[in-house]
Amino acid sequence: MRDAAPVDQVVLTTPDKISINPKKPQVVLTIAGSDPSGGAGIQADLKTFSTLGVYGCAAITVLTAQNTMGVEACLPVETTFFRKQVQFVLNDMPVSHIKIGLVGSNEIAAVIDDLLAFFPGEVIYDPVLRASDGHALFEQKNPERLLRHIVARSTVLTPNLNELELLTGMRCPNKKEMIHAVQNLLARFPRLRSVIVTGGHIHEDRKTVNDFLISRKLAIQTTDHLRIRTENSHGTGCTFASAFAAFHLLSGDDVHSFHQAVGFVAQLLKKSASWKLGKGTGPLVHHLYRLDAM
Ligand code: PLP
Repeated sequence: MRDAAPVDQVVLTTPDKISINPKKPQVVLTIAGSDPSGGAGIQADLKTFSTLGVYGCAAITVLTAQNTMGVEACLPVETTFFRKQVQFVLNDMPVSHIKIGLVGSNEIAAVIDDLLAFFPGEVIYDPVLRASDGHALFEQKNPERLLRHIVARSTVLTPNLNELELLTGMRCPNKKEMIHAVQNLLARFPRLRSVIVTGGHIHEDRKTVNDFLISRKLAIQTTDHLRIRTENSHGTGCTFASAFAAFHLLSGDDVHSFHQAVGFVAQLLKKSASWKLGKGTGPLVHHLYRLDAM
């Protein structure tokens, strides 16, 4: 087991160091829910892609009505229409990476499973089931059976601890059990190469946060960084998974992309902490990442 350097020692990719090849389009498609308040979902994903210098396409699974105080309502998109959104993008755009967030219903999960059967590229799946306020974002109870079909088609998974427990049906009260659960997923799903367990929700009273990258080769990478206390954390999970997808598109390397995505979200949490947007849990403010570099 190999632990990586603490994130503070990781060289963060600042915007002027991002190497973008202007002649080679780098395209990622996000399949996720819409958050009209701009903090999470499709909106957070597209902001992340632009900030990091990749071109983002977006197909919407679920419309939500929400603001910083919580989710009021969810409306899954009609499945035939949803399928068309993805097919029309894939028929035309050079998409190498698909990032999946909120799926929202069993019917949409089945369509995604179907569509991914014909997609040879990278699939990064953030298995979102609840909003941070606890509001269920999935229509039916017990969604895990259909979501496992999407896991089977994924190359990288970015669950938090609760989502990992749900997908595996295994309890993860400590690091050893968590690693065991991840190994279980890697053994069951041969296409899955790496699982990143984001640690923000683990031991919320502790001063430090650990995130884990566990790959098929079992070289476990961890980042151990100071917890950033902030009211503005809405959209952190979506932003992390999108940042990983963008860094992977630019570098092709899981370990590098993991450390860069952790550093990116940590920087955004810090930079967004003093903002007061809305009356509830504020969002990450993606454009602040670039402003400092100017
Ligand atoms: N996707 C959508 C559409 C949402 O509304 C939410 C939370 O409200 C999420 C994803 C999850 O957000 P987070 O990144 O804060 O986990």
